[in-house]
Amino acid sequence: MGGPGSGNWYRFDRRTTVEEAWLLAVGTLRGRIRPGSAGTVTWSRDGKRRASVGYFVTREDDRFTVWLHYRWRDREDIEIPIRLQTTRTQFGGQRWWFTCPLIVGGMACRRRVGKLYLPPGARYFGCRRCHGLTYRSCQEAHQEERLFGQLGREMGFDAEIGRLLAARLGRCR
Ligand SMILES: [Zn+2]
Repeated sequence: MGGPGSGNWYRFDRRTTVEEAWLLAVGTLRGRIRPGSAGTVTWSRDGKRRASVGYFVTREDDRFTVWLHYRWRDREDIEIPIRLQTTRTQFGGQRWWFTCPLIVGGMACRRRVGKLYLPPGARYFGCRRCHGLTYRSCQEAHQEERLFGQLGREMGFDAEIGRLLAARLGRCR
């Protein structure tokens, strides 16, 4: 039986986590979604200002669009329109959503999401799924799953333990 030093247990396919990406939540624009509205959203980490994105809002008929503009890697000016959608809340209010602007594999995503992400190295904001982001807690859970699966196999069980662990990872998939 191998020990921790003998295998590659800790070498796993690491996916970028949502925590590593810049997050733009639709709630950030609360009260500012009206034609002509403009501003800047700034992110900081460790108390240092790290990134900022400008936006302005346009309206065509009943459709609102928020245009994001930012400098990408100091060499390219990017401007992307993000369509907004609304749903009614049960108390008669209105809730705003972004429409994911990304095209993946030739298909426009158009998912209705409350959060858009810009992961390290990515050029455009998009939804969590398009960017293949996972949650840190899932990352840890997946490591655990692999570790226990490996242990199980080494002890002569099948991968059942890993599967049992996987069952509680519903939202991680
Ligand atoms: Zn998407």
